[in-house]
Amino acid sequence: MVHEILPVGVLQCNCSIFGDEQSGDALVVDPGDDLAEIERILARHHLAVKAIVITHAHIDHIGGAHKLHVSTGAPVYMHLDDEKLQDIMGLQASWLGMRMPERAAIDSPLRDGDVVRAAGQNFHVMHTPGHTPGSISLWLPPEKKLVAGDTLFRDSIGRTDLPFGDGEQILRSIHEKYFGLPDETVVVPGHGPLTTLGREKQFNYFLQGM
Ligand SMILES: [Zn+2]
Ligand SMILES: [Zn+2]
Repeated sequence: MVHEILPVGVLQCNCSIFGDEQSGDALVVDPGDDLAEIERILARHHLAVKAIVITHAHIDHIGGAHKLHVSTGAPVYMHLDDEKLQDIMGLQASWLGMRMPERAAIDSPLRDGDVVRAAGQNFHVMHTPGHTPGSISLWLPPEKKLVAGDTLFRDSIGRTDLPFGDGEQILRSIHEKYFGLPDETVVVPGHGPLTTLGREKQFNYFLQGM
């Protein structure tokens, strides 16, 4: 399986490209920006995008979704509880001094327990609200990989002081949804370096006493 992670945009959001060499199908998570670079990686692996998954509707994660949808025809998957963040995209753009991207239409609403089949893999959807109401995480059992969006980082957790954030809810999400996964699970956070769940349980200040 191809799994390329590239930091995109001013906030260096980790965009993941999962690809299946056999079928040439790809799933792209959080194409926030830098579409040319994403397309270069897809071309290098001879991949065609079949699904675009948004972990949450912050501009650094969703900003390039409409463009990628238009250029590939792939459906956009997102939890509808984050539509209210799409409604304030102009405000989000102003925080970063960016131009407002065109709104991505959500083709496939995601719910907790859904399985997105793409790129030769089953991506298990976990609703992990707190950083935003519609934040989701993707769990790949055979790879023991967790794409966490901005819910969990190496040594930190997602901020909850932005509109619709909830500090108690993010801790509940981490405890209820992540703590049942194996310690060796590789966490792909929304920003910064990869980590493992075991490492975060041991050293992450925010997860102590859970
Ligand atoms: Zn975010
Ligand atoms: Zn982010």
